[in-house]
Amino acid sequence: MDTKSESSLKKYEMRGQQMLEAIERTRETMRSKKFDTIAVHGIYNAEQALLHNQGSIIEPAYLSAAQHYENSDHLEVALAYKMPSWAYSRIANPTVHYLEETIALMEGYGSEEKVSSSVFASGMSAIFMATNPFLTNPERKAINIVVSARCYGGTFMLFNERYGRERGIDVRWVSDPLDLDAWTSLIDENTRFLYGEMPSNPSLDVIDIPALSVLAHHHELPFIVDATIATPALLRPIELGADIVIQSLSKTMASSGFAIAGAVSAKHHITSRFGDDALKENFAQYIKLLPARDHGPSLSPLSALMILNDMRTLRHKVDVMSANTATAAAFLQQHDAVESVHYPGLEQQPGYATAKAQMRLVDSPTDENRYGHLLSFTVKSGAVGARRVLDGFSMIWRGTDLGRVKSVANIPSISTHQQQGEQGRELACLPDNLIRLCVGHEDVDDVIADLEQGLTLA
Ligand SMILES: *Cc1c(COP(=O)(O)O)cnc(C)c1O
Repeated sequence: MDTKSESSLKKYEMRGQQMLEAIERTRETMRSKKFDTIAVHGIYNAEQALLHNQGSIIEPAYLSAAQHYENSDHLEVALAYKMPSWAYSRIANPTVHYLEETIALMEGYGSEEKVSSSVFASGMSAIFMATNPFLTNPERKAINIVVSARCYGGTFMLFNERYGRERGIDVRWVSDPLDLDAWTSLIDENTRFLYGEMPSNPSLDVIDIPALSVLAHHHELPFIVDATIATPALLRPIELGADIVIQSLSKTMASSGFAIAGAVSAKHHITSRFGDDALKENFAQYIKLLPARDHGPSLSPLSALMILNDMRTLRHKVDVMSANTATAAAFLQQHDAVESVHYPGLEQQPGYATAKAQMRLVDSPTDENRYGHLLSFTVKSGAVGARRVLDGFSMIWRGTDLGRVKSVANIPSISTHQQQGEQGRELACLPDNLIRLCVGHEDVDDVIADLEQGLTLA
């Protein structure tokens, strides 16, 4: 290599260093802001706009599949990951980057930890990317994972079928996730991680994140939490001790319903007895730069922009929709045709105290508890009655969707949880007379009138 090229490489490395420092300064500035300010701006400021984006006030959608470089030295330094660059949209993209930085600030809000986020093409791909790196097993040892059985149907299938049946990983289900002894008894020296959902979809079970984090760390294991149903507006698991957080961005984070996406957020220096230093130091960045590059679950920049746009008003939407849901839960609870109601905000629920301790509307002046906008209920008239009620709604949409500004209802046993079979549903506590309801941003009186109308057919 000639000396001219060497000094030019150094020049690009130095520029890379300066760019990284500038991003870190912006993150630092934004960390001191309130949640709504973070949600509105992320790291996209006047400097980003003027220096890189022709002054555009809104983050631009970078639809180009790839990036042009100044010369071969620039290309070489960038592709060695020695300067921030995006190269090719499967690896990174500027619009996607603005979304990732905003989510990292939201998930890290109120915490001392540094947090990074990576986004992927769906919530399921985020769960795969967050868990698969811990399951590397070249020596073909008998490895296991310890998982709350009260989880999303897709997660159940990924763990049970793809990991368990196809790869021979021992999936140890915890049937009552509030039972700490049950978790403890399933952990051994071949366990790779603990995994739980808070609150769970669709059974609305809760977990004690601080207690399970302590338990996981005692065994030098990472604790992974899917907090999709809560969103960072109500719950930030990293602040409570968890290592890694999953969001299906397809749900409440993008409540307009214009995109499918998922996020993995991780604190820096996660606890794990397994994996090399790079994996542990900055897990979210590690999975983006290495395994995700090779698996390829990249997010479309247009979807990234749709989600970014929705997230700006997250706290207010979650506040209104949670209040509506609490009202609907109280209505259902006193209705003669209803057998039981599951909602973390109901005092009779076994997990009520645990939910109350963890779920709060961020930056609420009165430190208000809010419990999200998902509930489920069973009807006294069984599976057939549940179908009659669902079919009787005239405004509430029927579908597997949730997290919307529009109310949507569903029967999990015949839809989202159909494929896990009767045994799997029993494990997850999903009877066939259960209706899942996600209350939207309508006037709650109109939602209740529609519920009333459906329930008269029960
Ligand atoms: C929907 C959902 C997922 C999967 O997300 P997709 O974006 O649909 O792939 C994971 N976890 C929970 C709790 C969900 O509700």
